[in-house]
Amino acid sequence: MTNQAPIVIVGTGLSGYSLVREFRKLDKDTPIVMVTADDGVSYSKPMLSTGFTKDKDAQGLAQADTEAMAEQLGVEVRTYTTVTGIDTGKHELILGDERLGYSKLVLAWGADVIRLGLAGNGLDRVYSINDLLDYRAFRKALEGGKRVAIMGAGLIGCEFANDLRNGGYEVDVIAPDATVMPSLLPEPAAEAVRHELTELGVRFHLGTVVERVDEDGGGVRLTLGNGETLQADLVISAVGLRPRTELAKAAGLDTGRGIQVNRALETSAEDVYALGDCAEVDGQVLLYVLPLMACARALAKTLTGERTEVRYGTMPIMVKTPCCPTAVCPPPVGAEGNWQIEQEASDVKALFKSPDGETLGFAVTGRFAVEKQALAREVPPLHQ
Ligand code: FAD
Repeated sequence: MTNQAPIVIVGTGLSGYSLVREFRKLDKDTPIVMVTADDGVSYSKPMLSTGFTKDKDAQGLAQADTEAMAEQLGVEVRTYTTVTGIDTGKHELILGDERLGYSKLVLAWGADVIRLGLAGNGLDRVYSINDLLDYRAFRKALEGGKRVAIMGAGLIGCEFANDLRNGGYEVDVIAPDATVMPSLLPEPAAEAVRHELTELGVRFHLGTVVERVDEDGGGVRLTLGNGETLQADLVISAVGLRPRTELAKAAGLDTGRGIQVNRALETSAEDVYALGDCAEVDGQVLLYVLPLMACARALAKTLTGERTEVRYGTMPIMVKTPCCPTAVCPPPVGAEGNWQIEQEASDVKALFKSPDGETLGFAVTGRFAVEKQALAREVPPLHQ
């Protein structure tokens, strides 16, 4: 029954397409069906926060259309097709009224944006940007506008702030934390980025939150928790992502913060695998490109019959704030040690040292950012 069924991959983001690319290097023939809720266009998601800097709209950021991808990779791509369930017993994917049999199933369906429960009548001017279709809608809504308010001062909020300033927009950033990227950067590095973004003209409203968004003229008025009000043409919500686990959980797969898989990317159900933003790999949820590429390489081998465990190397994250070039390699969660800081104005070199002097993580900004490759070689890989 299942022997003739194709390998089915849900998702045509970087995880889905990277996996097929790796798989086709090893196996040109096994039928593969890709299923995606969106249009299947290939693009690099990290580039969404560089559109103005690189002078590219949504069309310009698209790398290849679906037909080209299908032909290049020798796969069938079913677009605008939403998975509604998985029947793991029958090895079938449920697509509304239809069922699609699989020999092996790979879940690469990403993460959902977190939506805040805001009050007000202007919520249709609040945009989350988590894929190319979102970006297209955002750019269209921004036409003729000048002012953007960004909720959230994490990596994505800061990158959009820099990019929109480069595009000539007025930018306000509102976030509850005392500084930017608090979960990623040690304070001196975070302050360097905040300082340089401020110099660029970004207005920060930290230590408070947006409570209401109301229509006001052609734009919106934001009311903050500290009583302040701001005007904007539209709002970007960049308050975080949550791996998509609901359908997996309903199908009986083990889930935690993400769909739980071991280092061979195997879920708790037979012949079902997961990678990318939806996956919790051996206890770790890493919503970045380097981990998913490592997973794609390992899983491609497993799908050809050579069971392979992923091995994470050192994975530095480049923050795309060109006004303050920044790279960070966070120390492992719970690692013992402390930050040693070398600083001159907005040039910061922060090294996380273990009690015996080993460098376990780093953050570099400004002129020190060029040292990222050399420092990455000093930091032990995530998987030893
Ligand atoms: P996605 O790209 O989200 O793909 C999910 C796919 O699943 C889509 O095709 C979707 O349509 C499909 N899908 C979802 N649900 C269903 C369903 N029920 N049925 C059918 N299909 C479904 N990472 C870095 O390492 N460096 C960076 O500089 C960086 N910058 C970023 C900037 C921005 C603005 C953003 C938003 C993210 C950034 N990231 C960065 C994170 C990185 O882009 C993601 O980790 C990565 O793209 C996730 O890819 P994915 O394929 O797992 O998920």
